Amino acid sequence: MNYLSNRVNAVSESQTIAMARKSRELKSQGIDIISLSLGEPDFATPQIIKEAAKNAIDNNFSYYTHVSGYVELREAICNKFKRDNNLTYTPDQIVVSTGAKQSIANAVLCLVNEGDEVIVPAPFWVSYLEILKLAGGLPKIIETTIDQNFKISPTQLQAAITPKTKLIIMSTPCNPTGSVYSKEELKALADVLEKHPSVFVISDEIYEHINFCGGHQSFAQFESIYDRVITINGVSKGFAMTGWRGGILAANKTIAQACDKIQGQFTSATSSITQKAMHKAMELDFETYIKPMRDQFLKRRDLVLGLMKNIKGLKCNQPQGAFYVYPDISYFFGKSAQGFTIKNGTDLTFYLLDKAHVALVPGAAFGSDNYIRLSYATSEENLIKAIERIKNALDALSFG
Ligand code: PMP
Ligand code: GLU
Repeated sequence: MNYLSNRVNAVSESQTIAMARKSRELKSQGIDIISLSLGEPDFATPQIIKEAAKNAIDNNFSYYTHVSGYVELREAICNKFKRDNNLTYTPDQIVVSTGAKQSIANAVLCLVNEGDEVIVPAPFWVSYLEILKLAGGLPKIIETTIDQNFKISPTQLQAAITPKTKLIIMSTPCNPTGSVYSKEELKALADVLEKHPSVFVISDEIYEHINFCGGHQSFAQFESIYDRVITINGVSKGFAMTGWRGGILAANKTIAQACDKIQGQFTSATSSITQKAMHKAMELDFETYIKPMRDQFLKRRDLVLGLMKNIKGLKCNQPQGAFYVYPDISYFFGKSAQGFTIKNGTDLTFYLLDKAHVALVPGAAFGSDNYIRLSYATSEENLIKAIERIKNALDALSFG
């Protein structure tokens, strides 16, 4: 008997988390799995942030705070937005949460009614569609291809908007493709949105600091749509703080207040200790603390792309941000080896897990099963070993 709600039955488990769990299980059986599945920096949180958290504990900063985060933290976040993104926000426009994931869920629950259409460019991050389902929103997917660097054009956006459109959700830098929108590209999309004053934007900028093509561009920078953009950020990726659970939402005051209300009923504020750590993170100098990690990611990206060039059949673009590569693997469809026949990215992912002992995520999780996602947020040594294994397993596939 299935006694769970229709709501939860309709939602799929996060496939990034599921693949990470699967690889942990196999590792615990003694199998030497290299996991390139979960997107999380392998670096330690900077010491100075850890010290701030330890001080918070020692100073008994251990009580409930304001649901949206204590006010000095929100001031520090406003300073960060001004300093890094030239965006003007006041503390009553900021809601701190337990992660960008919660911030997105808050915003979707505050904006989307049953039957509202929500535009989601594909490839998209796994949780967008599932969060939308929980809110009763109807996803309207805009397909993109590797040849357009997985970025939507203004014409595609215009064509997707209907009188029922409430929202568009997208990320730049993008998970899973690593694509980064330039200022001109965002401006062209903003010009389309300017003509549709009832459409909002959730701009997921969690990978802001992992950008290899110059400065990050925020969607909210365009005056004409500023009031309708919900900017999402957080400390997980740029500061190597995935487990601390700190997310940031910045929006107009009405939306911020609504998110505060929802969060006040679901979880309240994130941990007071995490808030002190986030406060320190907001003040850190990019060159000293963040750039060294960004530079490592860049080095690894180039290593991975260089090694992948030697594998026949992988079609890959050059990601400009985040820490993923997202190759088209349709070349292998119809091929087989060792009892596996490859019909899609999911088959290939399981073949590589079983035969190469490398854990990846199938593109189906992100909207297209012609691809697989590889996270390079791990050591160069692991990457070299993993890609060697992938090469051997892929070279073994044939139309036999
Ligand atoms: N958005 C994107 C695009 C992500 O890749 C992730 C993965 N962590 C999140 C949001 C959620 O991040 P957080 O850890 O802050 O919840
Ligand atoms: N965002 C990361 C990923 O895409 C972490 C996993 C998750 O939160 O889904 O792999």
